[in-house]
Amino acid sequence: MQISTLIKQAKVYLPKLDEKRFKRAYVFARNAHAGQKRMDGSEYITHPMEVTSILTHLRVDETTLLAAILHDVPEDTKRTIEEVEKEFGRDLAFLVSGVTKLSKMKYRHNMVERQVDSLKKFFLHSARDLRIILIKLADRLHNMRTLNYVRQEKQLRIAKETMEIYVPIANLLGVWEVKSELENLCFAYIYPKEYDQLKHLIQKTAAYQQKILKGTTQKLQRELKKNRIQAEIQSRPKSLYSIFRKMVDREQQVEDLNDLLAIRVIVKERDDCYRVLGLIHELFRPKSGRIKDYIAVPKANGYQSLHTTVFGVDGTPTEFQIRTQEMHIESEYGIAAHYFYKEGSSARWTKIQREIKKRSGWVKEVLELQKDLKSNTDFIENLKIDVLQDRIFVFTPHGDMIDLPQGATGLDFAYHIHTDVGDHAVGLSRNGQSYPLTFVLETGDTVKIMTSKTQTLPKREWLEKVKTNLARNKIRLALKRQTQEQAYEAGVEFLTREFHLYGEKLDRLSEKQKDLLLAAFEMKNWREFIEAVGNGTISESEIISLLYSTEDLLGTPHRTGHDYSINTNKIGYRKSGTRLFTPVNSSTTPFYRVSLSMECNDRVGLLRDLGIEFAKLGVNIYQIGVRPTKVLERVKVDLIIEVMDLDQLRNAFDAMEGIDGIIEFHRIAAS
Ligand code: MN
Repeated sequence: MQISTLIKQAKVYLPKLDEKRFKRAYVFARNAHAGQKRMDGSEYITHPMEVTSILTHLRVDETTLLAAILHDVPEDTKRTIEEVEKEFGRDLAFLVSGVTKLSKMKYRHNMVERQVDSLKKFFLHSARDLRIILIKLADRLHNMRTLNYVRQEKQLRIAKETMEIYVPIANLLGVWEVKSELENLCFAYIYPKEYDQLKHLIQKTAAYQQKILKGTTQKLQRELKKNRIQAEIQSRPKSLYSIFRKMVDREQQVEDLNDLLAIRVIVKERDDCYRVLGLIHELFRPKSGRIKDYIAVPKANGYQSLHTTVFGVDGTPTEFQIRTQEMHIESEYGIAAHYFYKEGSSARWTKIQREIKKRSGWVKEVLELQKDLKSNTDFIENLKIDVLQDRIFVFTPHGDMIDLPQGATGLDFAYHIHTDVGDHAVGLSRNGQSYPLTFVLETGDTVKIMTSKTQTLPKREWLEKVKTNLARNKIRLALKRQTQEQAYEAGVEFLTREFHLYGEKLDRLSEKQKDLLLAAFEMKNWREFIEAVGNGTISESEIISLLYSTEDLLGTPHRTGHDYSINTNKIGYRKSGTRLFTPVNSSTTPFYRVSLSMECNDRVGLLRDLGIEFAKLGVNIYQIGVRPTKVLERVKVDLIIEVMDLDQLRNAFDAMEGIDGIIEFHRIAAS
């Protein structure tokens, strides 16, 4: 790439660009990097230039472009950040230093620590100026494009880091174009086999799909013309990664997925969106439950569009996305669109400011995290969970939208609203029905928290049930306010219950087992230990895993005999904590059969609800039997379920707690 090409690209949207300064920055960077080569053998300067070129697509301002050209200078050359500042000013130097990793010299004994500290610094600087994030995303995108020149073991590490940190950031900022390309690149490195398979499969059907797309587009075009609606129709294949993700989420084969075709209709006015939707539904029969109005209710990242899936030409399911030009620019460029499109009325500018504020709410969460956590590793881990996970959005009774990480419970919602609401929470109303506070919320839920003045302390078990660190920290703080007596009682109550769940008994622990626990947690005596449990210093999972092995609790593993999973074509994955999937191969991965006993109020649909919750978790019910009890309308259910590990069993327990009518349940220890 030539510098003149780059200037031309920038001038498309920055007619007043200071060319002289731009060239000066280029020469500065080129001289600084002189003699350095990229892994692919090209001159190093090609990298910052490509990064800058990516940013011109996002239409960033002049300072950001210049900072991009200079972004690797302080980190990789002899020229310092001070020299950059002297030459190009403070604003620009701040951006450059935000993307610069910490000194290799200072961390020469601990490079992992350097990575973590650098990421932390990057986030804290970004909270002050989001342009830093855009440079970093463009930097990462170019590095991913050229990743095949990097050592293999490094490839996987970088791809995973990108998937876990940079893809979610792009998603939060709504920079859809960058997000989608990053995801696809990561996909190829993290799941090479699946990538190749899918690519092959998609290519096979490509010609047929093209034909269908053409037919559908023509039909719609005629109709639009008849109705005098000006619109641009775009169609393109869905990204491989988005297909893969759907397959994992829905446990389906590629052939079963029926929304591989997507057509985008871009119109002038908001009203036109709804008119086009009407026309499409007259032409093609819509699929029920697949109409989504993201214009009235935008996604958490600000995305707006109408979506509908219809039975198109030949009955092929086809997805339409309808949006205005403005929504389109926003969806492609996300926050960048708001940040840099300053032209227009002052009313529009106010709106833009509001948008930026709304979308950078997570920046506040980053700062919040930083306050609470001492260790830097925790900072990144918590960042992944609290901020970078997929978000759900739920509503308060007044219709205010609140976004939370996926998996958040009623308690997370309560603490998000206010500490007092959390501490006094006694019940959850979800879409008008009551649920336990630990129930996992879903997008679209309307949530109300019942509080009581008489309850002043959170329950000890909540600590293990909440998803966000915000809630966990607040609960821990409140538990610390307990008197020693209260903490002791809370500890006993909590542990008695937990041991019972696993079919064990707290008061039957041997002296040897107690000594083991005291030693492990450096406690002087049993009372002190129980108090520490009660005020949240020691967690249940630590105790259980210290006392018992997986086999103690789950029995001997089974490896084969899964008659319902013989289909080897099935993509077997399950979600791990972050955006990555863990492969599951049921013929080789061990699983365990666990016997449970539960007592319930007999009601219509109880077993159905249990089945649904277990199915969501991938827990199989191997055997089930219901017998009456002495109490009328109360039954005992004996069941054997199949789980992969202790975590899955815990999740199953949590799910059972959320089901109306289940009074009590526990594991039956194998005799
Ligand atoms: Mn770079």
